[in-house]
Amino acid sequence: MRIQAWNLVFLIGVIVYVSIRGVFGGRTKGNEKVVSRVDMRDRALVAVVFLGNVILPALYLFTPLLGFADYRLPAFIPWCGAVVMVIALWLFWRAHVDLGLNWSITLEMRKGHELIVHGVYRRIRHPMYAAIFLFAVAQALLLQNWLAGWAGFVTVAILYLVRTPREEKMMCEFFGDQYRDYMQRTGRLWPRFF
Ligand code: SAH
Repeated sequence: MRIQAWNLVFLIGVIVYVSIRGVFGGRTKGNEKVVSRVDMRDRALVAVVFLGNVILPALYLFTPLLGFADYRLPAFIPWCGAVVMVIALWLFWRAHVDLGLNWSITLEMRKGHELIVHGVYRRIRHPMYAAIFLFAVAQALLLQNWLAGWAGFVTVAILYLVRTPREEKMMCEFFGDQYRDYMQRTGRLWPRFF
C-alpha cells in the first residue's frame, strides 16, 4: 500500500462512510417496501458509483496499476480535502438520521413513508447526494491520481443526473402537492432561503 497520511485519511473516510451505510441499512431492513422503481439502470448506477468511490481508489492504494496517472498537488490542497471529507461525512450521517426509517439505497417507498422536511432536509431536497458529491471532491483533493482521484466525482455526477429526476417523479407521484410544495421552497443541492 502507498502509506501516505492523505491516503490514510481517505481510507478512514471510506470506512466511516461504509459504516454509516451499514448501521442505517440494518435499521431499515425490516421496514416493508410498498413502491419499488429498482431496475437494471438503477442497479447499474449504484455499481458505477462503487467503481468510482471504492474499486479505483483501492487499485490506486493497493496496487501499482494506476501509477501512470499520478500527479502532485500543492501541499495545502490535501488539507482542504480532509476538511471537505469531515463536512461530507457529517452531512451524510445527518441525512441518514433525519430520513430515519424512510431511507433506501435505491428508488423505493416504505410502508408508512413520511415526507421528511426537517433537519438537513429543511432547505435542501438532496442533502445525501450533496454529501456524496462533497465526498467525491475530498477524494479528488486527497488522492493524487487522475483516475482514482476524479473517478468518484464523475460517477457521482452520473448518479445524480440520472437518478434525481426519477426520484423526484416518484416522490411527486407518492406525496402529490405536499412534495411539489416542498420542491418550491427548497434547492436540490444548495439551500434555498427565499
Ligand atoms: N435524495 C435524497 C435521499 C436519498 S436516499 C438525498 O439526497 O438526501 C433515496 C430514498 O430516500 C428515495 O428512494 C426515497 O424513498 C427517500 N427520500 C428522498 N427524499 C425524501 C424525503 N424528503 N422524505 C422522505 N423520504 C425521502
